Amino acid sequence: MARTFDTTCCIVGGGPAGMMLGVLLARAGIKATVLEKHADFLRDFRGDTIHPSTLELMHELGWLEDFLALPHYKARHLHARFGGRDYRVADFTHLPTRCGYVAFMPQWDFLDFLAERAAACPQFELRMATEVTDIVAADRHVSGVRARDADGELTVGASLVVAADGRSSTVRERAGLEVTRLGAPMDVLWFRLPRGEGDPQEPAGSFAAGGILILIARGDYWQCGYVIAKGSLDALRDAGLPALREAIGTLAPFVRDRLDHIRAWDDVKLLNVAVDRLERWFRHGVLAIGDAAHAMSPIGGVGINLAIQDAVAAARLLAGPLARGMPSDDDLAAVQRRRQWPARVTQRLQLLVQERVIRAVLAGSGELGAPLPVRLLARLPWLQRLPARLIGLGVRPEHIA
Ligand SMILES: Cc1cc2nc3c(=O)[nH]c(=O)nc-3n(C[C@H](O)[C@H](O)[C@H](O)COP(=O)(O)OP(=O)(O)OC[C@H]3O[C@@H](n4cnc5c(N)ncnc54)[C@H](O)[C@@H]3O)c2cc1C
Repeated sequence: MARTFDTTCCIVGGGPAGMMLGVLLARAGIKATVLEKHADFLRDFRGDTIHPSTLELMHELGWLEDFLALPHYKARHLHARFGGRDYRVADFTHLPTRCGYVAFMPQWDFLDFLAERAAACPQFELRMATEVTDIVAADRHVSGVRARDADGELTVGASLVVAADGRSSTVRERAGLEVTRLGAPMDVLWFRLPRGEGDPQEPAGSFAAGGILILIARGDYWQCGYVIAKGSLDALRDAGLPALREAIGTLAPFVRDRLDHIRAWDDVKLLNVAVDRLERWFRHGVLAIGDAAHAMSPIGGVGINLAIQDAVAAARLLAGPLARGMPSDDDLAAVQRRRQWPARVTQRLQLLVQERVIRAVLAGSGELGAPLPVRLLARLPWLQRLPARLIGLGVRPEHIA
């Protein structure tokens, strides 16, 4: 027989959005249960960026000092390389925040930190290795979820279910929330290469006709993202690994001496880039936030920031209604109203870059010069504060109540 228990807010997914929402609600005295399908937070690379806005939240929570004691790397600038020339395109040092940098930290360290802080709240519960398979719905009202763990099936009843289960959200699909797909001209191949002593320090993107390489320092290795035209992996495979190594060596000559670390196609993981959003983030008893509400393009590396900002707004707007009972549709609509605009504006900018820059670079051939905006940014350092603001703070930064 299926086991049953009740909570106040059942949060599906222990990613940045779910964990942040869980800890904030529990701090506000609301019983919050996070169900995470994985047994731990150790997973494939999914972005290591802790944005200045998130660091500001850490400060507001009184956790910043402890958080920054964890191993991390501070990126104060971002760079782009075109035709072998380096252009500085973002400067975080002038942001009106305590931390004028993006902290690069493995996402599992960030999530472990949130889990540890949350564990101090008696109202918080984290159930790992618990996969949600369906919602419990009667008429038009969602009253809980069905899940599976090592002991079998269970049913969780809740005043509110939050879908924080990412871009392939089971909850949004089962709840029938309609997804609008915005498309993307690229996919990303992720792999690792060792770091060397004379390597550059700051994260950078290298652009050449036909390909883009993103390099993110992670301890003793580079996390590399090779951006390719959507659907072109088969052609790349047909051309063979030597051709892939040659393309990467052209984009970042300093890694040429270690390209034999890409031994087989198994060393290379494909990220199928999808950009989408829900038209309506909620239905009675259920709300989607983070990637489940709006899967972002990888451009700018802002998905984690938006997910966390959604969680902060949701906690602020829903703690009161949850304390009183069940949030109304109007309460849930208030969260969408607050966070839809930042997600839409950011996606619109990402789509612009996808169409104007990425598509042209990937379809190009011959010498590739830096586009005018990149040259302007490099020439006018004060202008570098604008992309830093968009990436580091986002469009509508949230604060702890
Ligand atoms: C390769 C890669 C690189 C990225 N790089 C960056 C970057 O540099 N900067 C950046 O800001 N963003 C980056 N992103 C995007 C970023 O990871 C997401 O935008 C962000 O993690 C969204 O947070 P979330 O909490 O909404 O969803 P997720 O992080 O996807 O978390 C969802 C959680 O739900 C769990 N889950 C899923 N289904 C179920 C279920 N049925 N039951 C229970 N649990 C479930 C998952 O295991 C996961 O833990 C990257 C993404 C990828 C894939």
